[in-house]
Amino acid sequence: MAKARVGLYAVQGEALTRTHKSCPKCGPGVFLAEHGDRRSCGRCGYSESKGSPVPKAKPAKAPSEPKAAAPRAPAPAPPAAP
Ligand SMILES: [Zn+2]
Repeated sequence: MAKARVGLYAVQGEALTRTHKSCPKCGPGVFLAEHGDRRSCGRCGYSESKGSPVPKAKPAKAPSEPKAAAPRAPAPAPPAAP
């Protein structure tokens, strides 16, 4: 029995499934290394994140505003003294 590359394949019944994803740049012969939250190709340096497409990227709201910016809610005008 031929021995598959350890860790790269998993035999489930008669089906041979790849446990590692192949690199989209290098092709199906190159597998991506599994990391905690991402995969990377040791050949071309390609990397991708697991799970959600953008796990770390925060929603792009307004860029950091300078501290000197005017407050969002203007203070109420003082009552006019008679
Ligand atoms: Zn690659």
